[in-house]
Amino acid sequence: MTINRRTFLASLAAAPGLSLASHQAAASGAATDILPPVLHRFSLGEARVTVFLDGHLPLGSHLFADYDAALAQKALAGGLHRMTPEGLNIPVNGYLVELGNRKVLVDAGTSDLLGPNLGAMPQGLAATGVAPAEITEVLLTHMHPDHSGGLVTATGAATYANAELVVSRTEWDFWHDDAIMASVPESSRGFFQMARATVAPYGDRLRLFDGEAEVASGFTSLPLPGHTPGHSGFVLDGGAEQLLFWGDVVHSTALQFSYPDWTIAFDTDPAQTALTRRKMFDRAVADNLLLTGSHIDFPGLGRVLRQGESYAYQAAPWQFGL
Ligand SMILES: [Zn+2]
Repeated sequence: MTINRRTFLASLAAAPGLSLASHQAAASGAATDILPPVLHRFSLGEARVTVFLDGHLPLGSHLFADYDAALAQKALAGGLHRMTPEGLNIPVNGYLVELGNRKVLVDAGTSDLLGPNLGAMPQGLAATGVAPAEITEVLLTHMHPDHSGGLVTATGAATYANAELVVSRTEWDFWHDDAIMASVPESSRGFFQMARATVAPYGDRLRLFDGEAEVASGFTSLPLPGHTPGHSGFVLDGGAEQLLFWGDVVHSTALQFSYPDWTIAFDTDPAQTALTRRKMFDRAVADNLLLTGSHIDFPGLGRVLRQGESYAYQAAPWQFGL
C-alpha cells in the first residue's frame, strides 16, 4: 500500500472514541513549516545518547479507560501540566545511541503519518551530523506509527538504508497475522496496514528477538507486554551506568504515575498493560533505575519514586559536559 497520512487518518477517523479533530485539520492540506530540531545529548558511561523530540500528540481525556475528571484535576493541581481543549499534550521521543562503532536508533519517530506537529526526528539526527546511512541498527519498542513511522520515506523506501531492523518476534508476528487483523474492527485495521508498511522495506535486514536477549552491542531487551503484545524495553549498558528505554510504559507523565491503572484506547490488552506498568514501577523504585520513555516529558530522563499508594516521576536535570 502507499503510505500517507491521509490513508492512516482515514482509517483512524472511523474508530469510535478516537478524537482526531486536529489530525483531520492537518490532513486537510494546510502548508506547514518544517519542525526545528530539538534534542538533548548526554553521556552514559561509554555511550553517547541523544534524545530527539519528534513532536507532540494530544491525549484526549476520553482515551483513558478509567478517566475521572476530579482525580485528574487533583493530579494536575499538584504539577504544572496543562489540560488543553484537545487533552494533555504528550511528547514523542526517539533516540540515537553511539557506542563504539555502532550508531543505534531506539524507535524512529512518526514521519508525516500523524500530522504536522510530529516528524522532527530526522532534523534532529541531521543536527548531530550523523547521516541516515550511518545508522547500524534500529531497535523498535513496538510497531505503532509514532515509533515505526520514520522507518520509511514518503516513497516507501527505507529511511535507514544500511540499518538492521531489530524487533520482538511476538510483536512482528502479531501485526503480520492476517487472522488477527481480520478479527479486529474495520476501524482498527489501519494500524495493521501501517505497521506492515513501515517495516516492509527492511525484510532482508530484519532481526527478530525473543524475550530477554542481547539485541545489539550493549543492549538487552526487556519484555513489557500489554500496550502491544511484543512491546519491549531495552537496557543499555554504558559500562559504568545503565539506562532503561521503556517505550510506552507511560503515555501521560501527568496522570499515569498517580493512577497506574488508567489505560488508554491504544493499549491492546488493558489489564496486562496496567499490570506491566505496576511491576515496572516497583522494579524501577527498588532498583533506583535510570530510565527514559517515549512519551515522558521531554527530554524524558529520570526515575520513579514511590509516593504513598502510588508513584511519582523525578526528572533528571539537564545534562551538561559532553
Ligand atoms: Zn507511543
